[in-house]
Amino acid sequence: MIDPAAADPLEPIGAALFRPIGAPGVYARTGLYVDVMQRLDAYVSGMRDASAEVLRFPPVMSRAQLEKSGYLKSFPNLLGCVCALHGTETEIRAAAESYESGGDWTRSLAPSDLVLSPAACYPVYPLAAERGPVPQDGWIFDVAADCFRREPSGALDRLQSFRMREFVRIGTPQSVQGFREEWLGRAPGIAEELGLPCGVEVASDPFFGRTGQVMAVSQRLQSLKFELLIPYHPGAAPTACMSFNYHREHFGTTWGLQSADGDVAHTGCVAFGMDRLTVALFCVHGLDPSRWPASARHALAL
Ligand code: 5GP
Ligand code: ZN
Repeated sequence: MIDPAAADPLEPIGAALFRPIGAPGVYARTGLYVDVMQRLDAYVSGMRDASAEVLRFPPVMSRAQLEKSGYLKSFPNLLGCVCALHGTETEIRAAAESYESGGDWTRSLAPSDLVLSPAACYPVYPLAAERGPVPQDGWIFDVAADCFRREPSGALDRLQSFRMREFVRIGTPQSVQGFREEWLGRAPGIAEELGLPCGVEVASDPFFGRTGQVMAVSQRLQSLKFELLIPYHPGAAPTACMSFNYHREHFGTTWGLQSADGDVAHTGCVAFGMDRLTVALFCVHGLDPSRWPASARHALAL
């Protein structure tokens, strides 16, 4: 019998990297895959600014914080909200037992105060704002989280649950723009060292709906987002494996991030799509890391 979960497009590379666990774009990672991703994580740590503060976030975050960040205006279709059974023991028992009798227990669910984090950097802005005025030199954070976006797909590069690592800069407009320029300059060298073909292009986020198209055009016109694009196979449409984002004063205004003089802080972030980069390495170089190009093996300490 053919197992539909094991069918294309996860064959043959995906079959060595992922195991299906019952939902498209939600996979167990194999040892082969995890080893390379951990090495890639160490490689990224090696590029971290010495002053960066490291924070690792859980896969969930405060719903109120994400709402205040404006996520519902931009990507309501991608958001996953944690729901739970609330109420008395009798009410919860009745809801759970309705499943056993063929009923729909999910009708009793109610939203909790948590959402699944759609990007790694959202929690860092309110956390930083709690510290008071942004110092002259600003801040750099190294954050990561398992992120969720509601985009079921069988494609290797479109996961619903994926790992994101980010360097986040908070400071003056000049320092944030300079930070992003620096990383845009470094990105092609990173891809080259890993032996991955790449391009860097201005980009836009997948804002929701018709008004979202206007937001996307505005974002492009202002060059607020760039992406590092890597084709997984010769001739394939390239996959965005890193993004370089300038939020201007959005998070500074939202969270009251400002200097001692009262200037609203600007923010920006550089995101490494850890799953997309790891899959890229296997697609481009094959399933045997001992046979990968020397510079990639050196970078990943293989
Ligand atoms: P962004 O916030 O720019 O959309 O996402 C940052 C990075 O996360 C992207 O450049 C990409 O590498 C990664 N990413 C975004 N969406 C997905 C996805 O659906 N699957 C995977 N594997 N990675 C994603
Ligand atoms: Zn970010």
